[in-house]
Amino acid sequence: MKILVVGSGGREHAIAWKILNDNPNFELYCIGTNAGISEIAKCVELKTIEEIADFAQQSKIDFTVVGPEAFLAQGIVDEFSKRGLKIFGPNKKAAQLESSKVFAKQFMLKYGIPTADFAVFDDPNEATRFVEKKDEPLVIKADGLAAGKGTFVAKTKQEALNAIDLLMRKKIFKEAGAKIVVEKFLEGKEVSALAFCDGQTVVPMPGCMDYKRAYDNDQGPNTGGMGCVSPVSHYDKQMQHMTYKLVFERTLEGLQKEGIDYRGVIYAGLMITKQGPFVLEYNCRFGDPETQVLMLLLKSNLLEILQATVERQLSRMKVDWFGKAGICVVLASGGYPENYEIGYEIKGLEECKAIVFHAGTKKVNGKCVTNGGRVLNVCAVGETVAHAREIVYREIKKIHFEKMHYRTDIGLNV
Ligand code: ATP
Repeated sequence: MKILVVGSGGREHAIAWKILNDNPNFELYCIGTNAGISEIAKCVELKTIEEIADFAQQSKIDFTVVGPEAFLAQGIVDEFSKRGLKIFGPNKKAAQLESSKVFAKQFMLKYGIPTADFAVFDDPNEATRFVEKKDEPLVIKADGLAAGKGTFVAKTKQEALNAIDLLMRKKIFKEAGAKIVVEKFLEGKEVSALAFCDGQTVVPMPGCMDYKRAYDNDQGPNTGGMGCVSPVSHYDKQMQHMTYKLVFERTLEGLQKEGIDYRGVIYAGLMITKQGPFVLEYNCRFGDPETQVLMLLLKSNLLEILQATVERQLSRMKVDWFGKAGICVVLASGGYPENYEIGYEIKGLEECKAIVFHAGTKKVNGKCVTNGGRVLNVCAVGETVAHAREIVYREIKKIHFEKMHYRTDIGLNV
């Protein structure tokens, strides 16, 4: 079978690795490349969804899996489906759950899904007047996709006003900030709750915690993710059950009532509060770096689950997990997420016994060099989180590149 993975980060390397692990004879193709993926897949650089669909048709790809949200929001699934090509991910309409925060918040309100109280604005002066009257911390969010940078947690009124200014007057994210959501700040602990959804059945995956800030103890700027761990103690059986009932079941019911055929991964970013789970955001695809951990914990055949999702057969699938703990620590280029340099040789990969998924890497004259902000995802599985932590941090010591930076507290106190 020929499988195409769209995207070339750590998430896509993990998906490709798992598919090949389960089915060693399959032929893998990938849109985009890095030094890790290029060892297991034939890589092609294509930009538009039409080009990718042409490639899939010409290469007789049997099944495609999409990583990045931007392609889903642009309608890659609609384009493939139009041509009769099999593809995993929600269509453009369904992907609005992620691509429009206003849509997602109004959807949650309508279907009683717990989420922070909010107001929507398309006029900066009205937003300003609203914020002027508030004294509590607020969260300001751009409506559209902004590569994870469109949310401002404003502890003070001035910070909230600055966020409105940046999004709506200075338009730093262009049209993505034409509308904003202003919402109540929630206290609690976060969990990434991912689930497979075939439009009729939802199958949750183990809860994960990702670490967004650049430095230890959640200091420094937000990043694409510096690490991830699963399971998470504040997402126990009872909280998982509550989430299933209040979030996943109601989301599915709402989607059905709206006539949205959602087939893919639904990822609810949750804040676990004293009152239970609240949805901070939906994502409509696998998380990065959550997927790197989930692929190691998944016992069942991934491709069979993805196919069952597309064919609305999830209720017949048995999705098994190893029941162990998984961890992923991101090795980043010094300075990331701001200014950083690339092109440094990465040493010690052969000695490292952990599972390493590549993100920003490339091969130059046979050597592996850094080629992005997030460079490698070093992952391990253990009996407990502490055990997985021990393995991963021991193995990381064997890898080196100039100005390498990583957090040392992934998996501590979970
Ligand atoms: P992502 O990169 O996760 O897709 P995003 O830009 O879509 O991010 P959100 O996930 O909505 O934005 O928010 C980013 C982060 O901001 C959350 O992980 C959380 O830490 C914080 N946050 C968002 N909303 C709230 C809230 N209502 N109360 C407290 N913190 C919040």
